[in-house]
Formats: sequence, structure tokens, C-alpha cells
Amino acid sequence: MISSMAEIKILVVEDEPSLAEVVSLYLKRAGYQVQIASDGRQAMSILEKQIPDFVILDLMLPEVDGLSITRWLRDRSNVPIIMVTARREEIDRISGLEMGADDYVVKPFSPQELVSRVRAVLRRTGREQAGAESERDLSLGELHISPSTRVVTVRESPIELTAKEFDLLYLLARHPRQVFTRDQLLERVWGGADYIDPGTVTVHIRRLREKIESDPSSPTYLLTVWGVGYKFEP
Ligand code: CA
Repeated sequence: MISSMAEIKILVVEDEPSLAEVVSLYLKRAGYQVQIASDGRQAMSILEKQIPDFVILDLMLPEVDGLSITRWLRDRSNVPIIMVTARREEIDRISGLEMGADDYVVKPFSPQELVSRVRAVLRRTGREQAGAESERDLSLGELHISPSTRVVTVRESPIELTAKEFDLLYLLARHPRQVFTRDQLLERVWGGADYIDPGTVTVHIRRLREKIESDPSSPTYLLTVWGVGYKFEP
């Protein structure tokens, strides 16, 4: 975890406890400090004391709504805000009112996607350095992985990967020799969606092997750890 990220405090304003929990979990795992407010009034009492480094704000909230909070914040601060809404039409309606958010996500969204948006907004607003540890290029043997361009090459030849294949490979390669269970991979790459078949991981590993290994039946990069899961051997 890089130190600049550990210092970034994010306030999550969300009145659905389970959603607030999962969002908080993913943000913490990505190295951020997280505080949760479960309604607009609680959010305001936190913000009046101290404005954090980032705000993730549900639009429809009890007590004080997200739009009023955004206006209040924008009068005082340029803190990055990601708005969360249940309906895209809400965003269409309020965008005309100059909502003042830096980005928005529509429910249901994957927590991993939200974390990526947070990173992108932080980079754009200069609060997090581009090329931070989590986004660095990796060169491992004959394999080169560039997360900024999402290009993977093997012996200098570019390999066509789907988005999920790339995410899976990059996650494993970023943590060489660390064993991940199928559940951990499902959670980190697919956002832990309950409707995803656990066999999905197996299928993606097999396809990745076919694409990056010289001999997919006897892999040297993507290894199976029997009874546990998978690891990347550099
Ligand atoms: Ca809500």
C-alpha cells in the first residue's frame, strides 16, 4: 500500500447499510480510510467538523438529500465527489442544475468499478499520482503488462484479452506467488457478484493460459495450487 493513498479519507454517505458496508470494504482494501454516514444529517455533522479528501454521496437520502449536500460542499470546497444514484434519469435531470459532482455511478454498480472511478477522479484532480504502485507496468519474463493501455505482450507480440481476462491476469501478476482462492478472485475481479458461477474463474484461467503460456497444458506463469486456488509465478 502506498503511503499517499493511506492518508486519503473518504466519506461514504449511503442509507443502505449493506451497500455502505461493501463499498467501505472495497475502498479500505484499496488502501483508503473510510467513514460512513447513513443519512444526510449525519453526513452534514461530519462535514461541518472536517471536509474529507473525497466524498461518495448517495443522491436519495433521508433528512438532507445528496444534492443539497453537494451544493453546501461546493460553496466551501473543491473536494472530489462521486454521486451515487438509483436512476440514470435523476442524473439527467440534475445535470442541468450543475450538480457539481466529479463523476457518478448508477445502482446497481460493481464496488470494484466504484474504486476505479475514485482512483480516476483522484488522478484527474491531482490528488493521487498517475503511475502509482497499483497501476505500474509489469515485466515478468517474456510477459509485459501495461495497465494504462491495457496491453499485454508475450515475446513482444500483443495478446488479445477480454476486460475480465486482463483484470484477472493483472491482479495475479501484481502479487507474484500469492495464492488467491476462487472466491477472492471472484470478489476482486467480478465484484463478488452472487450471480457469477464460480466456474467462471476456471474458464478465464484456462483461456488466459491458452493466450499467454507456450504450453497451456503445462503452464509456467498461471499455476494451480491444488485445493486452494491460483497464483502467478514470475
Ligand atoms: Ca438512498
